[in-house]
Amino acid sequence: MNAPLNGTKPARASNSGDAVLDRYEPVIGLEVHCQLKTQTKLFCGCSTAFGAMPNHNTCPVCLGHPGVLPALNSEAVNFAIRFALAVGADIQETSVFARKQYFYPDLPKGYQITQYDLPYCTGGKLTLASGKTVRLIRAHLEEDAGKNVHGDESSYVDLNRAGVPLIEIVSHADIRTPEDAADYLKRLRSLVRSLEICDGNLEEGSFRCDANVSIRPRGQEKFGTRCEIKNLNSFRNIERAIKYEILRQADLLDHGQPVVQQTMLFDAASGKTHPMRSKEESHDYRYFPEPDLLPLRIDEARIQRQRETLPELPEAMARRFEEKHGLSAYDAAVLTSDKDLAGFYEAVVKRVGSAATEKIVANWVTSEYLREVNNRNWDLTNPPITADHLGELIELIGKSVISGRIAKTLFEEMAEKGPGKGPKAMVEAQGLIQVSDTSEIRNVVTKVLDANPEQLADYLGGRDKLFGFFVGQTMKVSGGKMNPQMVNDVLKELLDARRKG
Ligand code: ADP
Ligand code: MG
Ligand code: ZN
Repeated sequence: MNAPLNGTKPARASNSGDAVLDRYEPVIGLEVHCQLKTQTKLFCGCSTAFGAMPNHNTCPVCLGHPGVLPALNSEAVNFAIRFALAVGADIQETSVFARKQYFYPDLPKGYQITQYDLPYCTGGKLTLASGKTVRLIRAHLEEDAGKNVHGDESSYVDLNRAGVPLIEIVSHADIRTPEDAADYLKRLRSLVRSLEICDGNLEEGSFRCDANVSIRPRGQEKFGTRCEIKNLNSFRNIERAIKYEILRQADLLDHGQPVVQQTMLFDAASGKTHPMRSKEESHDYRYFPEPDLLPLRIDEARIQRQRETLPELPEAMARRFEEKHGLSAYDAAVLTSDKDLAGFYEAVVKRVGSAATEKIVANWVTSEYLREVNNRNWDLTNPPITADHLGELIELIGKSVISGRIAKTLFEEMAEKGPGKGPKAMVEAQGLIQVSDTSEIRNVVTKVLDANPEQLADYLGGRDKLFGFFVGQTMKVSGGKMNPQMVNDVLKELLDARRKG
């Protein structure tokens, strides 16, 4: 089955998404720029800190003054090696930096130092949730450009970002659906974050993606003409942009018009892609080897040092969560999609301290907790509900101190109010302790039965379904505080007695 494209309007409303996918197959290749989180820039000692005063983090090297020399940041190379190892790529013993020439106000040197025909890393792959494997063409090291800032009347240039180290990761055009494209990016982001080489912040631009999209008639082997979409700053927008672009290209082909290879900008407000410029060819850049830098040599000993300090990678961690914590593949994938989320889960498990609760904790984290994370835009590195407090809450249910229902209400209150006293203190302060006293439960159940004579008569007459009604009434009368299992047992006993009597 093809993923539906409904909800995305084509340029001319002649195509429904599903019909387009019956006839055309999308082909997608992604280029990702990851900003390496080194302390200093790629070729000078300037700070890479985000948010500094404009042009504060600059020096003659990154400002492109004449006569200065670049000096390669060794930490950036180590980070780049870690990436290559994590995706099983080949690390080249010798690679070469090149000058890519173009004019733009945010590029003071008039060229960018990057790698061209001899990148440090080739091959590698990433496996998606759908089981699909996406092969990588290459990854290379390069410096970032500065930023043009457009005000109302004037434009400004901020060169703090000029010279910040990046790796550009280029995939083969192996992706076939917008959903897989988004999944690929999520996994890549999770990977570079767990490697601690990039903070993966899409809004701040430390993780940026360009999507190359083409379509071909189903059954045709040859790829169609592609367009490259830029300005994609959220996973949702990446999916929207690719969906729109597929419909736009199908509409052109259906009307006998060719797709023109060009660079498109995505406009999040309208959900449309617009042409930005005709596609530049690599010969336009007049690449040549950077004369101020030696070829980059990476020896086996250096690779080995990085290999030894690799953290547990998301895929391996997901396997461990399945085996050690007994989780489903789905829960394991969700929980390991982010290293902070995974750490949170394991901290809660440790706090509760019983193997029987690992799945229960997984349920709480993937449903209640993640819902609040998304709704309230929580920062996973510093969530307002701590692992300690969630652990305490789950423990209170396990010890039958509170019912699951009360626990959910408490959790919402904790989410609303943020860090404060823990659930135990809240339970005591609000008098929410679960009633597990049989005689008290019998009293309430008896009252409920007496207060609903019609339903009782129906039940005794054979409408077994009404059992749930009595459970609900009893819980309601007790404000959700009664032990549900005991309510069930007591109800059963009293109803059976009335049937017989
Ligand atoms: P460029 O140097 O112009 O960016 P590349 O050959 O390096 O071009 O390819 C860039 C990206 O475009 C890669 O991710 C590649 O997989 C993808 N790509 C190439 N051809 C197509 C196509 N016909 N449709 C979709 N993606 C494509
Ligand atoms: Mg490109
Ligand atoms: Zn500098």
